[in-house]
Amino acid sequence: MVSELKNDSLPINDALFSKGVQLLAAQMTRINERLESLNINAFAASLAAGFLERLNRNNRRSMDGNIKRATGIDITGPANTPDIRELLDVKIAENVALISSIKTEYINDIGKIVRDNVINGERSTRLITEIKERGKVTESRAKLIARTETAKVNSQLTQLRAESLGSKYYIWSASNDERTRPDHEVMDGKYCKFDDDTVYSDDQGKTWKKRSSIGGVEQAPGIPINCRCVHLPVVNFG
Ligand SMILES: [Zn+2]
Repeated sequence: MVSELKNDSLPINDALFSKGVQLLAAQMTRINERLESLNINAFAASLAAGFLERLNRNNRRSMDGNIKRATGIDITGPANTPDIRELLDVKIAENVALISSIKTEYINDIGKIVRDNVINGERSTRLITEIKERGKVTESRAKLIARTETAKVNSQLTQLRAESLGSKYYIWSASNDERTRPDHEVMDGKYCKFDDDTVYSDDQGKTWKKRSSIGGVEQAPGIPINCRCVHLPVVNFG
């Protein structure tokens, strides 16, 4: 009798375990279905479109302000040129893909955390902690993407707007605080041209020098990761 019980104990545990895994798998499927039904692509698309529309409005407003401060001329616009609309469309598509990839990675990682937890028989409190930790990674990654994208799109919009006003040149403006990198700091106040990121001028565009000769960054303001520098476009209404 006793030996029979002993022999039975293993299959019973196995059965219980597999029942638990089945329940969990069913639950994961339901969670996935619910997430799918949220239509993440539509959500990502409206998020990206709204984000870029706000960015574009702010870019236009701050450029109007910069031009007024520099020249005293009050202008409205330039509005959305075909170039600007094209850039925004491309950026919306890129951002939808970025937002969707964060969500897919998140679901995959949560799935793995749950599976590992079941296999290793860990406590559920540990599972909750791990899921929360994973959530933080997603949030901080989303924030980094948002920050980098904002600066990049702003930089490209400013260039397109300035060029549509006939501007070829800009003054580099750095944030000049403890987080400003040395190769960005040396560019602060430098006269630059939109169509060549490798040069600057000391005589307002008469002659050009290599940025590498002063250790200056060879990209446009706002393009390097975490860069907070901006262009101050030089616009002549003469
Ligand atoms: Zn910078």
